Amino acid sequence: MYTLKRFEKVELAHIFNENNPDKRYACGFDESKYKMEKSSLKLDLSKIRIAVAKSANANSAICGICVGALYSN
Ligand SMILES: [Zn+2]
Repeated sequence: MYTLKRFEKVELAHIFNENNPDKRYACGFDESKYKMEKSSLKLDLSKIRIAVAKSANANSAICGICVGALYSN
């Protein structure tokens, strides 16, 4: 399972990997330094791919590194 997460004052959304504790964000984003917004979505792979394709989450672009890791799975 993946979660698309946005944080306050962070332009890009990131994709959080629920299944990989060592690499939750492919880009190494440190969420402990930021406050998460409420708009995260729990999505399976096919659904999050659709969300990425549409950049559909609250008008935010999605981190390219996180997206690249998602598509390489
Ligand atoms: Zn990222």
